[in-house]
Amino acid sequence: MRIVTVGTGTAAPHADRVQSCVYVEAGSTRILVDCGSGSVYRLAKLGLPWQEVTHVALTHFHADHTSDLATLFFAWRWGMLPPRSMPISVIGPTGTQDLLSRHAAALGSGMLEAVPDTRVHEVLPRTILALDETVAVEACKVPHTDESVAYSFTSAGHRVVVTGDTSYDPELGEWAQGCDVLVCECSLPDSLASPLHLTPRACGMLAGIARPRLLALTHFYPPVETIDVISEVRERYGGDVVMCHDGWTHEI
Ligand SMILES: [Zn+2]
Ligand SMILES: [Zn+2]
Repeated sequence: MRIVTVGTGTAAPHADRVQSCVYVEAGSTRILVDCGSGSVYRLAKLGLPWQEVTHVALTHFHADHTSDLATLFFAWRWGMLPPRSMPISVIGPTGTQDLLSRHAAALGSGMLEAVPDTRVHEVLPRTILALDETVAVEACKVPHTDESVAYSFTSAGHRVVVTGDTSYDPELGEWAQGCDVLVCECSLPDSLASPLHLTPRACGMLAGIARPRLLALTHFYPPVETIDVISEVRERYGGDVVMCHDGWTHEI
């Protein structure tokens, strides 16, 4: 499996971090987890095959995770020759079909018809969905918005968990136990702690339960970058940890 943090930013405009997007590749399966503003151009900048994405998995409906969906669909229609003909599966919590329909209605120019076969799978938490013969996904409800979920992707004995946006939840840590990589949001410092997000120390506590082989931090609001994130995580967690940038790549 290959993981690339395409966008490691948030709603706060940033010179080097576009909004949330993680690319997960396993064989010919190419998944985008979230698609916030700037993600599609960043995929192009990184040389990743945006034309051949097979699945988009939405963790929740906040704009910094969904606002480049239209850019992606129109890139498939008008940004490549010939236009995309392979189907696309959009995975998300209950309400995903409605979200896509509303985006398309607002744009009024056939966003969903840009791809001939757009399939929407609204997933229920703790239910495994096979994406193909080799890759499966499972969602886990997380405390952020009503619909928010984390995702676990498994392939060939490996497992990658992406938290999406979340606050601290020991049950999320237990569900993620033993994964190879935990891609974890790390939004804010303790001085600005929010009930909707994680601080570095909370990331450490979560990782202390999950015990991933690698804790990969993302979704940084600018104030958290002014503190020593890694040291604060290490107060609670002794395992490997990295602060991701746009384009950070890891193979397992
Ligand atoms: Zn977010
Ligand atoms: Zn959010």
